[in-house]
Amino acid sequence: MTPENGNRNGNGIVIIGTGQGGFQLAACLRQEGYQGSITMIGDEPGLPYQRPPLSKAYLKEGRLEAIQLRPDSFYERNAIRLMTPERAIRLDRQGKTVETLTGGLIGYDHLVLATGARNTIPPIAGLGAANVFSLRTSSDADRLRDGLGVKRQIVVIGGGFIGLEFAAVAASGGHDVTVVEAGSRLMARAVSPAISEHFRAFHEALGTRIVLGTGAAGVTIGSEATAVGVTLADGTDLPCDMILLAAGVRPNVELAVAAGLAVNNGIVVDSTLLTEDPCISALGDCTAFPDPVRGDLIRLESVQAASDQARIIAKRLTDKPSSHDAVPWFWSDQGDWKLQIAGLGTGADEDIAIEQAAARKLVFRFKMGQLLAVETINCPGEHMAARQLLRRSQPVTRAMLEEWQFDLGGLAKALKELTG
Ligand SMILES: Cc1cc2nc3c(=O)[nH]c(=O)nc-3n(C[C@H](O)[C@H](O)[C@H](O)COP(=O)(O)OP(=O)(O)OC[C@H]3O[C@@H](n4cnc5c(N)ncnc54)[C@H](O)[C@@H]3O)c2cc1C
Repeated sequence: MTPENGNRNGNGIVIIGTGQGGFQLAACLRQEGYQGSITMIGDEPGLPYQRPPLSKAYLKEGRLEAIQLRPDSFYERNAIRLMTPERAIRLDRQGKTVETLTGGLIGYDHLVLATGARNTIPPIAGLGAANVFSLRTSSDADRLRDGLGVKRQIVVIGGGFIGLEFAAVAASGGHDVTVVEAGSRLMARAVSPAISEHFRAFHEALGTRIVLGTGAAGVTIGSEATAVGVTLADGTDLPCDMILLAAGVRPNVELAVAAGLAVNNGIVVDSTLLTEDPCISALGDCTAFPDPVRGDLIRLESVQAASDQARIIAKRLTDKPSSHDAVPWFWSDQGDWKLQIAGLGTGADEDIAIEQAAARKLVFRFKMGQLLAVETINCPGEHMAARQLLRRSQPVTRAMLEEWQFDLGGLAKALKELTG
């Protein structure tokens, strides 16, 4: 074990952030046989939990135990020290300590920044009103659920995954919902135009009004100091008694910046998730890492990325080298539609959309004839086959797919048999 890795001074590994990635790292370290001490510092109260259900089932049911990643006993049994709620406020890279808000000084041999991201708040006056909500934490979801207790007229600012997942829940619950998206289509940062269009039609069929191409420019505050309307950039007024702000996130990089670490839309790491400081790694939503295909820095906001990165760090810290070459994948549940994305479609120059029976749809995304990503709606088998194909070192081409009439499962099976 190298000095950067282990228990040189007996301080072990300190993880800042008790979200998906922080939890996964602590669990993987024990699975990989790490025997030093593990301390997790997290500013949210309670046990680590999953965020995806916050905009789906948890919004309806509100059972915290159902979304906790592990029960209390797991941390005791695995000797993982959980310091929650506690906020890390400063790093001393020379002294290898983390200072906390309550005045603690925690020494580390290796530090992992798993600080996640926070919601972006656009510079629009009125967004501080009591009936303006956002959705990042379980307490945000609790507030939102309480707010949905009576029939509401809701404006969702932002037509990305979280805004749309929420819109599907709210519309199905009988609320009057309008989604406002400044871009020309829904989820534009992450999906093809064909998928955006399918989801626009899907949400409209649920009764949601979708407004594209004009952003929120102002919030009207009523006599009781609550928001009573949203004014759009084109002058349209949308009356409402509830607003959900879902306008994207910003990585939590302040600790890294103050400690002099490189930051470029995320804490910069190499393919092993190590920062320029050999005693500090970073992972998850707060991290900018080299895209294994293109080499440029990317930041992914997904459970899979945070979890894969945690596994890589755990292997490195237990002297089992491994680097970031997993195929990215993502899912979003909106009503009874499950969107799954295998690969990254960024830079695609051609899309081929295929519709199957009922609500089964696929979009193949190519760059110069090579498959970059496959987006599917309600096709879990095809999604798994796409991940298998994209994992291959040899590219999958449009010609190969055409030969197989876009049967992903068949092609994956044939190639597997060929290569053994
Ligand atoms: C509502 C919602 C729905 C989602 N749905 C999906 C989905 O369907 N599929 C999917 O793949 N992904 C989804 N995501 C994204 C996914 O949850 C995140 O990508 C994932 O949680 C990232 O893990 P992380 O550990 O990097 O960050 P997080 O899980 O955000 O954890 C970071 C933690 O660090 C804490 N922290 C920050 N700074 C400090 C500090 N200085 N001191 C102490 N603690 C600190 C934060 O408060 C937070 O608890 C969703 C996210 C949200 C909010």
